[in-house]
Amino acid sequence: MAKGVKMAGLMNEAISQLLVLQDRDSKATRLEAELESIDPEREKTRRESLQAQQVLEQAKQAQMQLEVRRKDLENEVESKKEQIRKYSQQQLETKKNEEYQALAREIEHVRKAISELEDQELELMEEQEAFKAKLAEASQVVDAAKASEAKLLSELDEREKNLGTELDELDEERETLAEAIDEKTLTHYERLLDTKGGRVVVGIDHGSCGGCHMKLQAQEIVNAKSGRERVACTNCGRLLYYTREMILANELED
Ligand SMILES: [Zn+2]
Repeated sequence: MAKGVKMAGLMNEAISQLLVLQDRDSKATRLEAELESIDPEREKTRRESLQAQQVLEQAKQAQMQLEVRRKDLENEVESKKEQIRKYSQQQLETKKNEEYQALAREIEHVRKAISELEDQELELMEEQEAFKAKLAEASQVVDAAKASEAKLLSELDEREKNLGTELDELDEERETLAEAIDEKTLTHYERLLDTKGGRVVVGIDHGSCGGCHMKLQAQEIVNAKSGRERVACTNCGRLLYYTREMILANELED
């Protein structure tokens, strides 16, 4: 039970009941908001994990393309070597010196081309080597993201379960509290709750309504002070209470 309610000796009974109800209602609202934030959090961690996965996939694709290019170069070198073998064979078979020389030039030409291809191949292999580190890093990021996703998801499941239990308990408590309040007062309170949002049972603050801050009539303050009847602000309709300590409704939360 909130301590402020006990201190208010002269407080109207309906008002002190409503203050407890209001406290439970605002707590339920907070818990519901927290519950609603869980799914977006789930989505966020799933998205992060998926993004890390995509980065890794792209790195793997790029690595594969490098490998394809290297294989192409390798094949090209092989076919050029085959060419040289053919020219060499033709050299052995020819009896004309002129043709022999021409073939020798061809062979020299192809050898040069092979050397260039092999240089390209070497560059590609260096690129592949550098890429290995990139791949390893991306793979680590994925592992970390997956681990943190799993951890967070299980935490969120747990939180969701606890919030559900707390809300069920609050629901039950609210029902009991509401049963003890007379119907007219409860209806007034609930109608206000619909239109004004959370804080509808408010203290009198320096002679003004704690909700809309309108200056109150002296008689309204006297009525609230006496605690004999339920007093509503003539401007906003919020239910008013007076305590010597001037504890406002939002300070009553434990
Ligand atoms: Zn007011």
